Amino acid sequence: MRVGIIALLQESNTFIKGETTLAHFEADILLEGEAVRKRLADAHHEIGGFFVGLAEQKLEAVPIFAARALPFGVLTAETLDALVRRLDAALDRAGPLDGLLVAPHGATVAANHADADGYWLTHLRQRVGRKMPIVGTLDLHANVSPKMIAACDAYIGYRTNPHLDQRQRGIEAARLIAMTLRGEIKPTMAAAFLPLAVNIERQLTAEQPCRGVYDYADALLDKEGVVTNSVILSFPYADVAEMGACVISVTNNDFALAEETALGLGQYWWDRRHAFVGQMTSISEACDRAAKLDGPITLLDMGDNVGGGSPGDGTLLAIALANRRDLLPACVCLADADSVQKAIAAGVGTRVTLTVGGKTDDLHGPPFEAEFTVQSLGDGKFSETEPRHGGFLHFNQGPTAIVATDTGLTIMLTTRRMVPFSIRQLTSHGVDLSAFRVLVAKGVHAPVAAYAPVSKHLIRVDTPGVTSADMTRLEYKNRRRPMFPFELDTTW
Ligand SMILES: [Zn+2]
Repeated sequence: MRVGIIALLQESNTFIKGETTLAHFEADILLEGEAVRKRLADAHHEIGGFFVGLAEQKLEAVPIFAARALPFGVLTAETLDALVRRLDAALDRAGPLDGLLVAPHGATVAANHADADGYWLTHLRQRVGRKMPIVGTLDLHANVSPKMIAACDAYIGYRTNPHLDQRQRGIEAARLIAMTLRGEIKPTMAAAFLPLAVNIERQLTAEQPCRGVYDYADALLDKEGVVTNSVILSFPYADVAEMGACVISVTNNDFALAEETALGLGQYWWDRRHAFVGQMTSISEACDRAAKLDGPITLLDMGDNVGGGSPGDGTLLAIALANRRDLLPACVCLADADSVQKAIAAGVGTRVTLTVGGKTDDLHGPPFEAEFTVQSLGDGKFSETEPRHGGFLHFNQGPTAIVATDTGLTIMLTTRRMVPFSIRQLTSHGVDLSAFRVLVAKGVHAPVAAYAPVSKHLIRVDTPGVTSADMTRLEYKNRRRPMFPFELDTTW
């Protein structure tokens, strides 16, 4: 039997003015047919898991279409339309299929379809008909919609943040579709949508309060008939009606049990909702705390969270560190193509005055001017062998310059904005981590897999920006109302 593989992944931050276009997908992943296998079969990604799982189950994997762009702004209408047209054409070429494995992100927003995942999955369902089994994976940052639930037979959400279990979830999805195709089970799904926005600062699955909800979800798997369940934390930086927590339960042909399990898990979570309100540490509080600790310390820049779509050129922590001799030497990465060119023009070993960062908008701090020495230059390419958030293997941040002030503030300037998911970003460019007292990673939980092994302490800092952890700073117009914690008396 032949099982098609289709992926369309992007996390859209609706608070960003910039739009995601086809060029953003071309710069990351936009593949059809066998090229999907070639690029992703070995990745620590759910698509890699699909290939492994289908092979284990002696099913033929038919790679059809895979598109992914880094988190950024809303997709233009033309972009979503073009992606769906390509998907359609690739599906036409795929030949007869018995089932489909799909990998939506779940938090994709387009100008013409706020529920972009619901739209393309419904379109796919209409094309292949009601009878063909479709099993999907979901990022735990999905903003799940009823349309998405109606379009597929089952979903399996990631269970870890940072996302280190993507490949495993893909293997599970392949097993589930195999059992379905053999007639051993009939996946039957129900979802509960909680009016709960989960603060990003509270989304580390290894720790409370998340741990308790995932443990409870695991315990419910022991119930006879429950096949899988998912706790979806959601992506708060999308001002859409679907934004919010969701739990999904899949049973073997028992809708009442699926509904009861989803509602029970949802109630367990809802009863603990107050624990999911974020704890905010200001820049000055974070610096004072760090000053009392042994290094290396990683400061996590929550307001300029590149994995949440932000520009990656926020200067507020760099400026704070430049003024704190007790926290130097320190290392910060900033996306700033213009300054990279200036550093290249100056050459290694040269002293140069640069105005770095703060150029995309006025939300993440002003440009920072200082005299630097150009320490090294590189091509910005690096690879990661360990499972890391996002399942990336190969990175390319474009031409890169490492510059440092006399007082010990080192800045890695990159041509493209880069997610801080791999410590190889620094080490492969010759950065000696042991030389620093403080490292800055522009993220919240996603960088933890890379930075925890090289840090004695991690401090999450409440910086302003398009990924501000303090959700009261964001102006929502389309979210559900009432919703906890915006309206504290919300009931469910
Ligand atoms: Zn995610």
